[in-house]
Amino acid sequence: MSCKHRALLIITRDVRGTTSNLAKKRIELQCGEPAGHDGPHRDSEHDETWTDRGSDLTHVLRPEDEEEA
Ligand SMILES: [Zn+2]
Repeated sequence: MSCKHRALLIITRDVRGTTSNLAKKRIELQCGEPAGHDGPHRDSEHDETWTDRGSDLTHVLRPEDEEEA
């Protein structure tokens, strides 16, 4: 049985001259690790990890710049 914890990865883009971010892209992630595993959740298909913050669906915000770095 796998973990099946889910997350929504949101790639954001700074809007020049404002403090707000624009959500550029949303990617649904699903953990494929065994249930009750240690450490962060991991989606091997998208090669992403995230930390459980206590909810079933975790939102992961990532500025576009970091993605390209
Ligand atoms: Zn997991």
